Amino acid sequence: MIAKERVYFKTFGCRTNQFDTQVMISKIKDFEFSSDELEADVIVVNSCTVTNGADSSVRHYINSIERKNPNARVVLAGCGSHSKGETLLADKKVFGVMGHSEKENINEILKKPESFYEIGDLEHIDSTIVEEFVGKSRAFIKIQEGCDFSCSYCIIPAVRGGARSHSEDTVIEQVKKLADNGFGEFILTGTNVGSYGKDHGSSMAKLLKKVSHLRGVRRIRIGSLEPIQIDDEFKELLDEPWMAKHLHIALQHTSDKMLDIMNRRNSFISDKRLFDELSSHGYALGTDFIVGHPGEDDRAWMEAMERLIDLPLTHVHAFTYSKRDGTAAASMSDLVRGDVAKARHRELTELIKEKNYEFRKANQSNLEVLLESGNDDIYRGFDQYFNRIEVRSSEDLSSNWLLMNSVEVNREGNMAKYSS
Ligand code: SF4
Repeated sequence: MIAKERVYFKTFGCRTNQFDTQVMISKIKDFEFSSDELEADVIVVNSCTVTNGADSSVRHYINSIERKNPNARVVLAGCGSHSKGETLLADKKVFGVMGHSEKENINEILKKPESFYEIGDLEHIDSTIVEEFVGKSRAFIKIQEGCDFSCSYCIIPAVRGGARSHSEDTVIEQVKKLADNGFGEFILTGTNVGSYGKDHGSSMAKLLKKVSHLRGVRRIRIGSLEPIQIDDEFKELLDEPWMAKHLHIALQHTSDKMLDIMNRRNSFISDKRLFDELSSHGYALGTDFIVGHPGEDDRAWMEAMERLIDLPLTHVHAFTYSKRDGTAAASMSDLVRGDVAKARHRELTELIKEKNYEFRKANQSNLEVLLESGNDDIYRGFDQYFNRIEVRSSEDLSSNWLLMNSVEVNREGNMAKYSS
């Protein structure tokens, strides 16, 4: 019997890329998996190209393989295959290049004896829905791919294509299966998840309603929404008991000048109105924010901070701008110095940390906590507001739901003791 070749997967970048690796892994039939890149015959590099720095990391990794395991066939997949694939192949840095749409054909592609460039198209959506599990009761489900926006700093539409979604039936079938197996919390994710359904007459709200009716579904979270995607149909669901009381809404900035430069579709006046409305329904609210984008002068920053102070925010993913060739922002002038951007990043995260602390102090009871696994008698999980909690217990509480009415609120997080 001929031994099967061994394949090793190296994944860079975001959660979507992790999901994509899972799709590829699920399609491998004629290879063995290797956990050691030095012993692998084929190395699939699922790359990220979000910034110039991300490109360098991928290139650096490929160079290191060339030295450490020169006989391996390196196959470039992921977003970088669409931006850097041709060059890396021409430079003989990789054996083959496969685009996003080719993931499900990976088993055949990897058998190719000759160097290849299978870039495919950017309209395809995988037939495989991937889930990722945290403990035994939370599941991430990728329901959508791609983005139709054109934000100045982002390369995603060029390397992942426009927005397209899985059908409602496919998503429902998947959730049903998992709910039957004991999963209670579902996190719906995608590249621009709020655009769900636009391509087949559905919407996030319609999908949410259907998923919520499935037996066993207890709580639903949504990855990240754009402000303009929260329409009246969605707002009607705000008080539903199965909605996690936390929404992550990507503002990216709060200065009008910056929103304009960044080619965003939101404006501060309507963002503020929206956040106040959501907060009046008891929601904790998170956002993405890019600090140090070209054009962010002192005045724009001051305006942004004043407005942030006014916003009912509880969580933030703050990013420091990093140049990406091929985007509109890459050719902009008025760059922000690195140390200035760093200081602004700190100022922003400190502010939101304080806001989060105030929110937790004001919301200490009726916390519906889903615990993940634990060790040393400490169990960690999240409440409905997406605030982390640490629970001490001598009883095994892994994957348990708890209703907590008394927690210790510290600056760093919530803590509690459990005794039955
Ligand atoms: S909404 Fe903007 S930042 Fe987000 S993926 Fe689309 S283009 Fe990129």
